Amino acid sequence: MSGPEVRFQGVGVAPGIARGAVFIYHPDDEEPPKRRIDSSEIANEIARFETALIATRAQILEMQQRIAEAIGAKDASIFDAHLLVVEDRTLIDEVLRTLERNSFNVEFIFAEVANRYAHTLSQIDDPYLRERAFDIHDVTRRVLRNLSGRSPQTLASIASPYVIVAHNITPSDTATLNRQWVLAFATDVGSRTSHTAIMARSLNIPAVVGLGDMSSRLRPGDHVLLDGTNGLVIQNPTDETLWEYGEVEVRLEKVEQGLIGLRETASTTADGKHIILSANIELPDDVSSVVSAGAEGIGLYRTEFFFLNKTELPNEEEQFHAYRAVATGIAPQTVIIRTLDLGGDKFLSHSHLPTELNPFLGCRAIRFCLERPDIFKVQLRAILRASEIGNVRMMFPMISGVSELKQAKDVLEVCKTELRVEGVAFNEELEVGIMIEVPSAALVADSLAKEVDFFSIGTNDLIQYTIAVDRVNERIAHLYQPTHPAILRLIELTVSAAHANGIWVGVCGEMAGEISLTPLLLGLGVDELSASAGLVPRVKKAVQSLDISECLQLIEGIKGLNSATAILARCEEVARKHYPELLN
Ligand code: PEP
Ligand code: MG
Repeated sequence: MSGPEVRFQGVGVAPGIARGAVFIYHPDDEEPPKRRIDSSEIANEIARFETALIATRAQILEMQQRIAEAIGAKDASIFDAHLLVVEDRTLIDEVLRTLERNSFNVEFIFAEVANRYAHTLSQIDDPYLRERAFDIHDVTRRVLRNLSGRSPQTLASIASPYVIVAHNITPSDTATLNRQWVLAFATDVGSRTSHTAIMARSLNIPAVVGLGDMSSRLRPGDHVLLDGTNGLVIQNPTDETLWEYGEVEVRLEKVEQGLIGLRETASTTADGKHIILSANIELPDDVSSVVSAGAEGIGLYRTEFFFLNKTELPNEEEQFHAYRAVATGIAPQTVIIRTLDLGGDKFLSHSHLPTELNPFLGCRAIRFCLERPDIFKVQLRAILRASEIGNVRMMFPMISGVSELKQAKDVLEVCKTELRVEGVAFNEELEVGIMIEVPSAALVADSLAKEVDFFSIGTNDLIQYTIAVDRVNERIAHLYQPTHPAILRLIELTVSAAHANGIWVGVCGEMAGEISLTPLLLGLGVDELSASAGLVPRVKKAVQSLDISECLQLIEGIKGLNSATAILARCEEVARKHYPELLN
């Protein structure tokens, strides 16, 4: 029998209502339990260990088979190294010897011995052996899971519909999951602009983050109702709650139906100004959702998601095929391919890069690429080759000033020269733009505008760097204020520098999809908005409902205000006047 209804309040980051059983996802970084055992228990511990090794071997073989069928034998062969670990006699014998000597439970002993092995290998100055340390870690986690009796946990292995509940879900987790079975996400930590939240919006999956300790209070199979608009998760919803939400769903469905009719219409304001409305994507497969949302092309393709969960960096050919597939899929409209933005909260799974104390302020994005021209050039060549069909633009992330931009452009020139010498075709007229997402870039936007063809304002980072509020830290989420007067000033500076130099300027951060802020962004004069595909229809409706003249009045009216809350209230007032049905 189900218990009483319990409500958990968090932050809604992707709209929609979902209901279903929960799948509680535990990433495998938990410590194994430590328990003294009696000598009479040793035989049983050895038997448990052997069973776990057999189960692990079977799981690896099955996974290898699945991956070979899905993406090819080459990628599947990485599991050969994992099989060698479960069959490693030296490791196994050492566990058995230590078990007899030390009398602790086998998971504790195994974790200790395996970690010692991995540590020794990781210290050796040989890339192959260091790689084996990662294999040992992976296999260790799997064996420990089998010893604990828990089913193997990867989001990719889910095969029926669930609401995924976790302490945290990383961008790598979201990149692998089978979206067909994910009804919704709910996490203890996170914020609106974490890349996990962005991914959820992109996949059109309702999501709530910042739920405190909810993941430890729910049990596998519990039934919940999740309201991604209001940031609510309801455990054991009563019949009355279900009925209320049934009504809400009928209302939302009506709004959605109305929006579908806008697909073929232009995003032009009521008084006739056209605003380019594009969509952001993370993976090549997302192109179809951009087309069906009625967007005018792709304003931001976050290429780094293609690099996550890979044991090796994708080579030029693989990248070229991915970029060309996106360009072909979106033609005749354009795609802005952003060069790698690794670091921050997006890391390579098998990276040998040192961990940093402040990754968002560290060797992220263009900084990483300039430090590693070997990796950067492969991507630039692939993008250049894909540009041949004519609808590709390129954009550099995290540019902080002119000299950094010039360095990036120099590497691009080297790649162009190489391709010309090799006789490989690319678009000589390729347009190159930059993200304006570091405050210093906004402040020198007048100089930067002379060097590029367009700007795209990355408000997610611009806000975190300007107000010094970590975008993924839920404790300070209340300080993350898109309508902070400092942010508005930086956007104004960027727009006026762009227009004075004859280039266009867009917004591709999450602010572009916040319909209560559409009047603000239009009033500030941006030419393009690029939002998650799922949000595009409502942004289009907002644009069509507004008058530029009224948006300009809004900007005049907030000039004397110095409170983010007061400015937000004014924006909401305008939005509510024109499209109340989208805001409730
Ligand atoms: C941004 O910072 O606003 C942006 C669009 O880039 P990302 O969210 O990938 O950092
Ligand atoms: Mg950014």
